[in-house]
Order: sequence, then C-alpha cells, then structure tokens
Amino acid sequence: MNIWVFVEEANGAPAPVGLELLTKARELGSVSAVFLGESDDAIAELGRYGAGAVYRLAGGEDKLPAAGAAAALADLIASESPDLVLFGLTYTDRDVAGRLSARLGKPVVSNASDIRLDGDSVVVITEIFGGTQLVETAVRADAPALVIGRPKAFTAEPGGETTPAVTEVTLPDVGHAGAAVITAVHVEESEGPKLEEADIVVSGGRGLGAADKFELIEQLAGKLGAATGATRAVVDAGWVAYSKQVGQTGKTVKPSIYIACGISGAMQHLVGMKDSGTIIAVNKDPDAPIFDVADLGIVGDLHQVIPKLLEALA
Ligand SMILES: Cc1cc2nc3c(=O)[nH]c(=O)nc-3n(C[C@H](O)[C@H](O)[C@H](O)COP(=O)(O)OP(=O)(O)OC[C@H]3O[C@@H](n4cnc5c(N)ncnc54)[C@H](O)[C@@H]3O)c2cc1C
Repeated sequence: MNIWVFVEEANGAPAPVGLELLTKARELGSVSAVFLGESDDAIAELGRYGAGAVYRLAGGEDKLPAAGAAAALADLIASESPDLVLFGLTYTDRDVAGRLSARLGKPVVSNASDIRLDGDSVVVITEIFGGTQLVETAVRADAPALVIGRPKAFTAEPGGETTPAVTEVTLPDVGHAGAAVITAVHVEESEGPKLEEADIVVSGGRGLGAADKFELIEQLAGKLGAATGATRAVVDAGWVAYSKQVGQTGKTVKPSIYIACGISGAMQHLVGMKDSGTIIAVNKDPDAPIFDVADLGIVGDLHQVIPKLLEALA
C-alpha cells in the first residue's frame, strides 16, 4: 500500500501529529510525506520517521495555504495514485482534507484513533460516546482513502532512516478560493512545558473552588516540571485560558503521569487524557468516576492534599 502523510511545518519542524501518522503509516505500507513548509531540517526529520519521498509544497507566501495545498495535492494524486492519504486533526490539515474531498468527490473519514487494512480496504476506527464505543468504517470508495487521525492516537517513533527524495511543488493559483491572507500570527505566551508534549500534566477541575486556587496546580506542576491542564468547567468559568482545556473539545494529552485534582471524570474530559501512562486522582468524593480510570487515587480535600504533596516535594 502506497501511503501519503500530509505534514505541516510548525516552528521549523514537522508538526508532531505528522510524525505520529508517519509512524503508523510505516506499519501499513510504503510511506511518502506531503510537506507544507520550507525547512530542510524538517525534511531530514521526515526521513528519520520513514518518509522515502517528500513532496514539498511551497510558494504560498502569506496566503492561507489550504486551498492551494488541496489543489496541488489533487494534481499529485492524479499523477501518482496513492492508496491512502493521512491528515492530522489540526486546523490546516482539516481544511486541506475537506477541500481535497470536495475536489476529488471522495469521502473523508475524520477523528481516527486507529487504522488497519482489510485486504485492499482501509478500515478506520473512531471512538464515540466519550471513547466507550468503537466504530469501524471501511472505506469502499476508489483510492485514495482520505483519513484524518487524532493527535496522540499513535506514538511517534523514528525508524526506517531514509534520505527522502524531494520533489518541489509550487502551490497553484486558485483565484478567489486562495485569496485569504494571513495578516498576523499571535503566539500565546506560556511558561514551562507545552501541554500536548509534556511528560507530566497536573490538571485542575471545579473542585478547586475559585480561580485563585489554580495557583495550587501551578505550584505542584512547577515542582514536577509538569504542564498544567484544566477541565472545561474551569475554562468556562474564566479561571484559565481555553488553551489549557483537556478533553473532547480541548486538547488530547498522553503524558507518562496525569494528576487530576478536583476533577469528576466526565466522559468528555476522560476522552482527552485516558491514554496517559499513570493517572493519579485527588477527589473528596470516593465515588467520583475519575477513580474508575485512575491507577492511584487519593480521597481527600485537595486544599489539604496538594499542600502536603508540595511539602513532601520541597
Ligand atoms: C459537548 C461537550 C463537550 C465537552 N468538552 C469537554 C472537554 O473538552 N473537557 C472537559 O473537561 N469537559 C468537557 N465537557 C464538560 C464535561 O461534561 C464536564 O462538565 C466537565 O468536565 C466537569 O468539569 P469538572 O470535573 O472540573 O467539574 P465537576 O464535574 O463539577 O467536578 C468537580 C469535582 O471536584 C470534586 N471536588 C469538589 N471539591 C473538592 C475538594 N475540595 N477537593 C477534592 N475534590 C473536590 C467533586 O467531588 C467533583 O468530583 C464537555 C461537555 C459537553 C456537553
């Protein structure tokens, strides 16, 4: 099976979800990357993750790239006939996949948590009802199958060590469809490790009781070199920024250790963190659903438990 992975450049490197998808794609067949970016170092990195060939899409300047990228991909697909094209569940990737789906008149299956082959068919596994049920969708349309994969569904591991053959592709002019330009880019200021990439995450929920109590979460995270996360209840209350939200409508994280403080364990939260290595929960309610997924649980008032933990870590 000939598989293409669409990978966007992020800060001079391949976007992490692209490397995760390349790793999965290696299991399924021979792999090429379609890289939206300029960096040569990023292309070398794609080779380390198994891309034997790279199509570099460049030349969009300050234009919002999805329309041009989809048009370029449609042309490449017509001449190279891949069997499967994978995208990540990110803003640009989704935009490109949707436009490509419309151009090719083919379905796109989104939100994949796993992918397997059944003969020549691509079978996409998606989670529904907060990850409690799995749906298998076999793509029966003519190739290529278009699939969007969830971040952290696969673990990125280098392998296949190749020096990819690079084909330069200029983004075509798509007229009005590609006329939107990027006028400014704002990088959110944050301290400590990034939530999606951190090895340890400490998250706080409504059980904190007040916005200023999120400081407890920050102090514990600071001691552990961890990133901080939050539930939607906390974000909706305006206690912390949306960028910290973990869950169905927030970020998916998969750290080695996830510490949930004052979090009930609603399905929509669990879906964003249940694949973490070791889950530790602090909750005063012994029947809180978070304890169903926790490896270690502390039943108690977090306002007493966290200061004790901080003392122990001092
Ligand atoms: C479409 C949709 C999408 C959603 N997406 C998300 C999402 O992405 N992420 C997300 O998190 N939620 C999401 N939600 C919301 C979700 O359903 C829950 O409402 C939310 O996760 C609850 O947050 P919480 O655990 O902080 O609050 P609560 O459910 O109110 O739980 C607070 C917990 O704190 C405990 N507690 C209280 N005081 C203390 C104390 N002093 N010490 C220790 N424990 C204490 C309580 O026992 C309780 O278990 C979504 C909902 C919908 C409908």
